[in-house]
Amino acid sequence: MKAAILVQSNAPLIVDEVIPPDVLLPGQVFVRVEYSGICGAQINEIDAVKGPDQYLPHLLGHEGVGIVLECGPGVTTVSQEDRVVLHWRQSAGIQSPPPKYRWGSKDVNAGWVTTFNTHAVISENRLTVIPHSFDSRVATLFGCAVTTAFGVVDNDAQLKVGQSVLIFGIGGVGLNIAQAASMKSGYPIVGVEIADNKLVMGRSFGLTHALSANSDDLQKQIREIVGLAGADVVIETTGDSRVIEEAYNLTHPDGKTILVGVPRKGDNISIPSLPLHFNQVLTGSHGGGAEPDTDIPRLMRLVDAGKLKFDGLITHEFSLDRINDALQIFRSGEAGRVILNMA
Ligand SMILES: [Zn+2]
Repeated sequence: MKAAILVQSNAPLIVDEVIPPDVLLPGQVFVRVEYSGICGAQINEIDAVKGPDQYLPHLLGHEGVGIVLECGPGVTTVSQEDRVVLHWRQSAGIQSPPPKYRWGSKDVNAGWVTTFNTHAVISENRLTVIPHSFDSRVATLFGCAVTTAFGVVDNDAQLKVGQSVLIFGIGGVGLNIAQAASMKSGYPIVGVEIADNKLVMGRSFGLTHALSANSDDLQKQIREIVGLAGADVVIETTGDSRVIEEAYNLTHPDGKTILVGVPRKGDNISIPSLPLHFNQVLTGSHGGGAEPDTDIPRLMRLVDAGKLKFDGLITHEFSLDRINDALQIFRSGEAGRVILNMA
């Protein structure tokens, strides 16, 4: 099997043959990966934004789709030949020990799920079975982007019909937050983004107003749309501390600021905290509190019904060998979702 290995922080990944463990432990499942998504979390891992990486060398990726090849002892929720979504949030089934791979003479670490690899040993509770008929490329996004976004709107924001929504960063998660907010009849739904093409895409995903982050009078424009007191729900996906402060300051005194993006370690925010003693809420999201085994089938039914659409969301597809090019496109901020095709 081939894998992209993070050998050194802030350096390109190395794509090479690795050897999976020869015996599956209880709760481990051997999967052939079909597609993997790329999300900000992997960029953060490569850049070591949370501090020095103790697990090097290790594998990466937490959103994908694949086929089950073999189940370890005790596995009951998936079977051989099942098509599965690979996700990072815990779900039904056993949490197995994380696997170790061999790369030449070295051990390579991996978490309970990794997807930047043609095959993977995955913990049963990071897999959810889906129908074989479901589009594989779209299914990939249910590992993180889609389930996180809908969880943020459903669980963290608990958005009510007619509440105003302000979203900073219209990437893979931001676009789906717009879609979820639109389905729940939030109004207005304002998106702020640097890349113009994503603002255009955002409109087709439910933004009622799309504003360039480069505008000089951005705050004024936002207040003209959502009202002077700010928006009911403000969702921050960029992880930029200055943007987080702006998001907080543009939240209504009775509203919620929800942080989805994660800033660099040591990059702190400075905010007036008094409103938090009254009704304003500031909270960090943990993957939208998504529960993959119930959320994925529920949302996939909406895709089958034509109510949930992902047209144009996946803008780039690369082979695993070109992962560093894929990461560069992702970093450019111009792309929608970038996926890896393992075939
Ligand atoms: Zn993710």
